[in-house]
Order: sequence, then structure tokens, then C-alpha cells
Amino acid sequence: MPFSPRATFLSWLLLATVYVGSLHADGLARLKEERLVRVRQSILELSKNREEPVRSGRFVDMRANLHVHSRFSHDSRGSLDEIVAAAKRAGTRVLMFTEHPAEDYDFYQDGHQGLHDGVLCIPGAEMKGFLCYPTGSVRGIENEPPQGLSDLIRGRDGLMFVSHLEERMEWRIRGVTGVEIYNTHADFKDETALLKALRNPLWLLQSAELFRKYPQEAFSALQDYPADYLRRWDELCVDGPHTGVSANDAH
Ligand SMILES: [Zn+2]
Repeated sequence: MPFSPRATFLSWLLLATVYVGSLHADGLARLKEERLVRVRQSILELSKNREEPVRSGRFVDMRANLHVHSRFSHDSRGSLDEIVAAAKRAGTRVLMFTEHPAEDYDFYQDGHQGLHDGVLCIPGAEMKGFLCYPTGSVRGIENEPPQGLSDLIRGRDGLMFVSHLEERMEWRIRGVTGVEIYNTHADFKDETALLKALRNPLWLLQSAELFRKYPQEAFSALQDYPADYLRRWDELCVDGPHTGVSANDAH
């Protein structure tokens, strides 16, 4: 075929589309051994260059998980012992629970509290679009509208984070502690090909070795850069400080 500027432009456009497409590829496409090897190399490279920040005052760094459901929530089967054991394996020292409230229990009073096998448990709930960590029971004030609920819990020294930003991009709630700048569940929902593969026992069997060899790297295959969340966080930070938190949404 003779050289044609139009054909060249079209092939460049096609290449560009394929490249941009790969940035938003489904997690399934990212679960290839050669890619997982590259991810591992990048992680090693990054940890070599990482400099521990110097902490002043009383603050210490510790690994915490602040969006965790247990058996109290209708959609989780995890017992406290199982969750604490998993936290210990991952080096997590603080678990901040975010149960779905229900009539038959008080998420604060009945919730997991205190030290369990060296892991600090803090009771809380996922309600009205927030991750709520009150300092006492909120029975009787649950029906407040979101701003009122936040004001009451913050007014009693509790913590409030806006959760699942993708469902409430327009929200402006005054006085919250912060917002989720990542949520694993929200990120996972659009991985249609990966979700389908995970329901296929044959694929799971074929991929077992990959998950065993590259557990962390394989898990990262479901993660997309949270551009919308970060843009929203930037907008909110113009109004006032919003502590950004990354949520596992562990069930
Ligand atoms: Zn949740």
C-alpha cells in the first residue's frame, strides 16, 4: 500500500486508542505473569527508594483498616477471631469496624471494642453515606439527616468520613473528618471480565498458581487509578481540610 498520510494518522489513532484502552483495561487482562513480574519489580524498586519520614512528637505509624464488616453486617460472615487473625497476618494493628446498622444490635455498644490478641478494635458503622465512629451509642439519633448526624457525632468527638464518593459526588457536608479517596469495592464493581472469571471454577484452578506466586501483585490487578475520587477530594479540600482515607471495604 502506498504511503498515505490519512492511513498513517488512522493507524496512530488506533495505536493511541489501544494504549489508552490498556490504562483502563479490565483486571482480567492485567492478570498475566509477565505483567505481575513487572509489578513486583516496581514494588521492590519503590521500597528501595522509599525514605521513612521522620516523625515528631507522640505520633507513630501503624497499619490500620478503617472500613471493615464482620458478622454483625448482613453481608459478611467473618467472626472477630477470623478477622483479627487475618489482620495479624497482614501486620494490621488497628481495625475500625463499619457495620451495617440493624434493629437487633447496637453497633457501638455490642460492637467489637478494645484489644483482641494485640489488635485494637474500634466500633463504628457505615450509615447515611458515612463511615461513622461515634464515641458512644447513637441510638435515637440515627434518623437525623446526614448533616445533622455528622454534626452530632463530630460534636461528641467522633470521626466521620464520607464513604463511596462515586455515589455522592455532589455532596458537601460541613465539618466531616475526611473522605474516602479509594474504595476497593467501588473499584472492583466495574471489572466485569474479572468478575465473570472469578465465578468460573476452571479459570480459578488454572490461575491458582499465579495467585500463590504473586498474591500482592495479583490483588493489585483490580485497582484502577482513582482519578474521579482524587479530583473530588481536591475540590473538597478547597472548602476545608479533608483527611483522605483509603478503604478496603473488607467483608
Ligand atoms: Zn462497606
